[in-house]
Amino acid sequence: MVVQFPAPKHKKGCEAMSKEVKAIIYARQSSGDDDVSASVEQQVKNCQQLARECGYCVVGIFRDLNISGKFYPDTPGANTICNFDMALRNWAASTSSMQIRFRQGLGEAFAMLKEIDFILLDDFTRLMRPLPNSYLEGYMKQELICNKVKLHCVKGGIADPNSFGDNIVSSLISMINANQLEIQRQKSKAALKKLKDDGYRPSGANMRGYRRIGKHKYEIVPKEADFIREAFAMGVANFSYMAICRKLSKKYGIHDLHYDTLIPIYQRPEYAGYCYNSEGELIESKCFGSIPIVTLSQFLQMKERLRNKRIHNHDRKHIYAFTGLCYCGYCGERMQIVSCNAMPHSLEAGCRLYYFGCVRNIYREHSRDCGKSRIRYSYPFPFGWRVPPERWPVTQKTLDSPRPPVPPDLYNIGLRESLLALIVKPLLEEQKRLLYGSSNLDVKINRLEQEKERIMSRQKTLANMFQRGSIPDEQFEQLSRDLKNSMEKIRSELLELTATACVDQKKVLEELKLQLHMLQAVKNVEDNLYKKHAQQLIERINIFAYHIEIFFRNGKSFILERIPRWGARIMPNWNFVMRRNKAYIKYYYKSFYQGDERERVLYDDKTMNIVAVGCNPRPKAWADSPSRRWNWRTQEISDTFPLESTGGQSFEDSHTE
Ligand SMILES: [Zn+2]
Repeated sequence: MVVQFPAPKHKKGCEAMSKEVKAIIYARQSSGDDDVSASVEQQVKNCQQLARECGYCVVGIFRDLNISGKFYPDTPGANTICNFDMALRNWAASTSSMQIRFRQGLGEAFAMLKEIDFILLDDFTRLMRPLPNSYLEGYMKQELICNKVKLHCVKGGIADPNSFGDNIVSSLISMINANQLEIQRQKSKAALKKLKDDGYRPSGANMRGYRRIGKHKYEIVPKEADFIREAFAMGVANFSYMAICRKLSKKYGIHDLHYDTLIPIYQRPEYAGYCYNSEGELIESKCFGSIPIVTLSQFLQMKERLRNKRIHNHDRKHIYAFTGLCYCGYCGERMQIVSCNAMPHSLEAGCRLYYFGCVRNIYREHSRDCGKSRIRYSYPFPFGWRVPPERWPVTQKTLDSPRPPVPPDLYNIGLRESLLALIVKPLLEEQKRLLYGSSNLDVKINRLEQEKERIMSRQKTLANMFQRGSIPDEQFEQLSRDLKNSMEKIRSELLELTATACVDQKKVLEELKLQLHMLQAVKNVEDNLYKKHAQQLIERINIFAYHIEIFFRNGKSFILERIPRWGARIMPNWNFVMRRNKAYIKYYYKSFYQGDERERVLYDDKTMNIVAVGCNPRPKAWADSPSRRWNWRTQEISDTFPLESTGGQSFEDSHTE
């Protein structure tokens, strides 16, 4: 086979005649995914700048668009060589979409080689990016050497193929490789960012609960998903992290489960079908959006729990809702849970009874009035008697009735059951958020959209002000951080609302009604949940002998009386109704059960209205009055020891004898 290389030609004498150095500019851009470079026009601009600086006379500008640096220039010689270039042919065959092409622009540039001194490039890789063992490199080198043309690159300086001989290729290649690496790095960084912003998972690594089955494709691993589901459910129910670890590691046989492995699980929005983009905002995930394990509400609640350090939950056997909130009204000391066994013949026989007592009274002195502030935390049988919850049966009639059920009789109620009324609203709201959508959705979404617009316009104004230099740096940073935070909050609320928009509203209401009824009837809720809401709502409770003062975290307070009954001072029973997003609570005092229905407002604000029905006897009224029990006692004594005996002597008589 005979390969005809173009014969070397000598240059015209222009170099000697004029000092002018002639140059052409060559720019190339590749469309495919093998290359990231400045745009062709930018490359040309860079080269023109270079020419101006070095005083070159630019006699031509050549461009190749959307073509790889692996291809030959469109010259007769290159056409022939290309036919024998197996490296290039194999490569083209392996990439199905690629056909062998020729670079027109470079072909035209090579036709001018004899007239010029320099080829100006943005960087070396624009000229060629040869495949290993391809003839391209040799061909180019030969053409340049024969025509005594040097390369001048904006990034890399001057390279003279003639004087460097073989070295030029190696230095070129090393430079190309270095460039290649840097470009690759930038490219992969950009690609990762794009993936993240599009809602894909940049790393293909597995996470607990999902298995990777292909590019951006995952499937649920049922057993691990159960584990994740349970972890979230327990987390939202405010179980302590230790308790969650203990239970789950036992149930699922995971030995190394502890706080540090649990927290990252709660921080993964992927489990709810969402992910973070490069700005740290929640967006819907393309990989997990269709296969979420938990709901978005659950994820957001856990995010809130992790952020809120106040509702810390120590790993205790028993959880008391008002731990750390109760204070003795007489001395101001904190009150603590104390317990004792019930009397063997009492109705509560066999139960452990829990009280809040003043620590001063428990540990130090038994003087002052501190003993009086002692209060029963809860009654094991909520109504003092072993009353089953069927007292207030759940029927359609009771559920549909607009009026809440009224307490039928005076029952023994402790602090826990009585103050439950205060947290019914947040409790129900949480339930609503968790399981179902929210009502008047459209209005809310509109409101949030408007808020979003407002914040965006404020961000713009702020940026303008900053550009004009009318606010200092620190202030700008502070303000923009604030705006970004509120924006983030609105975005997550919007997401949650739209995620729950397709829920059956009627079913939601029915379910919530049932839950409210059960709360009123049984007056019981899980300790974890109770504590979470009580601690969020209440700042402090001062306890006195016949009343308690409750201070809310919003600074307001109200007074609730304790009802003297037999030897105890119990708490009033209540009912609850919700109207227009406001809770109406009625506490029933003692005289209500004798038919007294006078009402007094104890507390009123935007979210809550608390009313007392009836009134209580004044302290010790019972002891002062000639009550039935006294009568009965004296009766009994006089029966046993008759004062005016019919037979025998009187007591006095026998003494005086
Ligand atoms: Zn005290």
